Amino acid sequence: MSPTTPKIAILGAGPAGLCLAAILTHHSIPYTLYESDASAATRTQGGSLDLHPTTGQQALRDAGVYEAWERQARFSGENFVLTDAGGREHVRVQGVAHGRPEIGRPRLRQILLDAVPEERVRWGRRVRSVGEEEKEGKDVVLRFEDGSVEGGFDLVVGAEGAWSKVRSRLSSLAPFYAGVSGVELWWREVDERYPDISERIGEGSNFMFGEERGNALLCQRQDDRSIQAYAWFTAPEHFIRDAGVDWADSQKVKEWLLEKFEGWSEGQKDLIRKADGDMTPRPLHMLPVGLKWPSRKGLTVIGDAAHLMTPFAGEGVNLALTDAMVLAQEIVKSPHDLDRAVQAYEKEMFPRATESQQRTWHSLQSRFAPGAIAEFQNRIAKMIDRLGLDRKKYILTDIGNIEKT
Ligand SMILES: Cc1cc2nc3c(=O)[nH]c(=O)nc-3n(C[C@H](O)[C@H](O)[C@H](O)COP(=O)(O)OP(=O)(O)OC[C@H]3O[C@@H](n4cnc5c(N)ncnc54)[C@H](O)[C@@H]3O)c2cc1C
Repeated sequence: MSPTTPKIAILGAGPAGLCLAAILTHHSIPYTLYESDASAATRTQGGSLDLHPTTGQQALRDAGVYEAWERQARFSGENFVLTDAGGREHVRVQGVAHGRPEIGRPRLRQILLDAVPEERVRWGRRVRSVGEEEKEGKDVVLRFEDGSVEGGFDLVVGAEGAWSKVRSRLSSLAPFYAGVSGVELWWREVDERYPDISERIGEGSNFMFGEERGNALLCQRQDDRSIQAYAWFTAPEHFIRDAGVDWADSQKVKEWLLEKFEGWSEGQKDLIRKADGDMTPRPLHMLPVGLKWPSRKGLTVIGDAAHLMTPFAGEGVNLALTDAMVLAQEIVKSPHDLDRAVQAYEKEMFPRATESQQRTWHSLQSRFAPGAIAEFQNRIAKMIDRLGLDRKKYILTDIGNIEKT
């Protein structure tokens, strides 16, 4: 690029920031990526993600890493079981490929990092604030937790997730509590230690809905064959602070959770009893559905920073990767007119994000209410129909709500 090469900063090495970095690298457009984690190895955990063909997978194609992803994706991760609180299975789908294989976060991060030159990433750089300099032209300035300051940016892309500093410059609205909290549970070396649990959860996901009880146990196989689950429940905002539980004492957390899951089958409560020691409480937050802002020179956001939502429609990472792809395409079209690129990206992103936010909001409300199982059964039945397969093989019960085809 010419001496007037624009100066671009990307904040956050999550899926969105890394995908943008990988695509810009592919097009020889320079940038600097600032990440608060000390190194790529800082986070060894994180749940499995399914990437969708026309969104997440397409973005990986643009980043030149699709083949690497395909080699490491778990196609058996598409297996799915739907269970009620009595332990009865309503759906069991095995060996049906529907184009959405799973991959763990650490693997996805590494695949994208492999496409980003090392010298472009600044690890251990947590941004404290994003400001503007009173100067012609290059004007965005970043202040870091370590006291350092860097300026002169033509474009700062906030890909720093839920609590984005860049977003706070674009909108005064902040994420709010979504009414659901959970505890993250793990069963490691599960094949050897608990073959019964391993068998029950299978190679993919086993979603267990408590319906009118307002809770759910969503279990999923991981890349290293361990099983991770979230025990979700509707709860007041400050339950972590107010529950009177010592979250570092796993035995106490289990006792507390078993009370929350009172009325579930003994087999399911046994899952909680046998969970490993590290149990992390997680309140869920979301941004308002349909959040928009007037485009602002030198700043934009992608991924959760732009449209944080709960995980109940499995859209977050796909939307994040698509944002990266669309913004990168616009930057590639006009690297010397980044304001135009940002405007074009935001114009495309707002309605796309709103549609996913609406679907996710609907899912959040229906997953913790009577009818959750029937609605999910319907969804699976439609998928089975689309694939031209026999419903009777996979839908094990008919609880009266399955739409006929
Ligand atoms: C419990 C749970 C389960 C989920 N399950 C699914 C699922 O099954 N499917 C799905 O599609 N989505 C799921 N999601 C959502 C998905 O994880 C996110 O949508 C996705 O990670 C968004 O990627 P991102 O890059 O925008 O943000 P993030 O993944 O949050 O990455 C942000 C990065 O920015 C860094 N950072 C943060 N602050 C700063 C700072 N100040 N300075 C510098 N760096 C900073 C962080 O360290 C991080 O590396 C789930 C989310 C949760 C909470």
